[in-house]
Amino acid sequence: MRYYSRTTGCGLINESNLGSTVTLAGWVQRRRDHGGLTFIDLRDRSGMVQLVFSSEINKQAHEKAHELRSEFVLNITGTVIKRADGTINNELATGAFEIQVTSLDILNRAKPLPFNLDDTQIDEELRLKYRYLDLRKPQMQKNLSVRNALIFAMREFLHHEGFYDIETPILTKDTPEGARGFLVPSRIKAGSFYALSQSPQLYKQLLMAAGFERYYQIARCFRDEDLRADRQPEFTQLDLEMSFIGEREVQSVIEQLIAYTLKKVFSIELQLPLKRMTYDEAFNTYGSDKPDTRYELKINDITADFADTQLSFLRSILQASGKIGCLYLKQARFSRSELDNWVAKAQQLGAKGMLWIKAGENRQLESPVAKFLPTDFIDRLEKTCSGFDQGDVVFIIAGSYEESWELLGRLRCLVAKELGMIPEGLLDFLWITDFPMFEFNAETKSWVAKHHPFTAPQAGWEEKNQRDIKARAYDIVLNGVELGGGSIRIHDPERQAKVFEMLGMTPEQAENKFGFLLEAQQLGFPPHGGLAIGIDRFVMLLANQPSIREVIAFPKTARGHDPMMDAPTPVEDKRLREYGLKLLPKVTQSAE
Ligand code: ASP
Repeated sequence: MRYYSRTTGCGLINESNLGSTVTLAGWVQRRRDHGGLTFIDLRDRSGMVQLVFSSEINKQAHEKAHELRSEFVLNITGTVIKRADGTINNELATGAFEIQVTSLDILNRAKPLPFNLDDTQIDEELRLKYRYLDLRKPQMQKNLSVRNALIFAMREFLHHEGFYDIETPILTKDTPEGARGFLVPSRIKAGSFYALSQSPQLYKQLLMAAGFERYYQIARCFRDEDLRADRQPEFTQLDLEMSFIGEREVQSVIEQLIAYTLKKVFSIELQLPLKRMTYDEAFNTYGSDKPDTRYELKINDITADFADTQLSFLRSILQASGKIGCLYLKQARFSRSELDNWVAKAQQLGAKGMLWIKAGENRQLESPVAKFLPTDFIDRLEKTCSGFDQGDVVFIIAGSYEESWELLGRLRCLVAKELGMIPEGLLDFLWITDFPMFEFNAETKSWVAKHHPFTAPQAGWEEKNQRDIKARAYDIVLNGVELGGGSIRIHDPERQAKVFEMLGMTPEQAENKFGFLLEAQQLGFPPHGGLAIGIDRFVMLLANQPSIREVIAFPKTARGHDPMMDAPTPVEDKRLREYGLKLLPKVTQSAE
């Protein structure tokens, strides 16, 4: 087997190569035999070109060409000619040319592949088991090429803006930052554990203490969470931090960064500044802190319309200071069975029930509870849901404000999707600002940080109830997906200690977990803030892909499994002993 250096790429053959001799290497896409001619489509990363073999061109190469099968790896030399009129393939960039092969070397043979690369319905486990084959598909090549271009553009922009690219440790301390971290046993200090970094958060803050002023990193983050549909145990984010700035400066850098990358990679002009909305407004209008504002469909508060209601379940909700909200669907003209279906869908989303009211023929009130509603109810709705009229429907959910609005928010997304209300081809960016500082976790009955415990509270927080304190935190949303988030951080130790206390930590616990931070805050700590953007999600949305797994070279399955290498795997007792570890009997069994 010989190998001759390539003179160009398969997809790069053009007019200027006509008549010249080229050497190419790549994979056989397919072989076709026509009488005395054999055609091969040869593919490399740059694209594809047609090769022709015949005994007139070169007898030896032609004979060998009969051995070729899909995915063999070849090295060829030949002459570039123009294809005959009528045989030009307009779908291929090189479709006007072909290569008359004078020498063929087979560099590697391929057995029939476990799946056909053209098949769009391949089981995902199988795709991931043979990811290196799956990645040969043009769409996957494109996805990773978009990812590469975006990351390069980000680096380019940040470098020119004076940001330093600094790596931070992956093996770090197990700190309660919000999510659950992965633990890594130490062999040298048996019985102790590192945690895999959930994000470079504390390190980047300490880099500000160190005086670097502008830091970024394309950082790998690890979170050991129960995996939801589109999460990965390890993911990549663009992480950055700046000193001596306020929220507007961080947001402005991010806006310019996004505009720069979109222009560079997709020639898209982004209108700046981006839209902004407070958390309260977003939740009140859309029932979400990451609203998809590509379409309207706002939530209407119709609590007042039911002030005199005879419906006892609504009366008790009102007595408990609950709220009644609705989605107003203009000219939906749903049939009775469609409406029943929507009730079932709302229940699948977690609603106990959903009420609908429709203005039928001649504005006749239609609803499962019609006989309990006042006859003028359509007129009332006409005021709260401006213009409510014949053919219109409202979907109503009642309960506590948080729960019912959250459900309406989810129902809103489903309705928009199913009724085709989402315009295609839009990139709808939005800042959400003024987040609550704390969130009550009903399960653990404790207050947790909505962003993370290093986020600075807004001015006047000392006088407020914990639930009313707002944070200097912001998220950036794209098409209803949270793209990233960040905040201005606390930089003085008293405030930090107070926030830890409000999160239920004793001073000893705070010292034990975050003593290094509290100390750094007493040794000259500049005001600072930053943000992180999920690169996988960003690429997914820009490459128009259905899942982040489509834009990650080697992702895990939704259950955190790597079918290619078969990780995670049990390890031998001998290995565990080196770490001073022993499995519980039950765990040993399930691992086998
Ligand atoms: N560290 C945060 C995160 O990973 C982002 C930030 O506050 O900069 O979500």
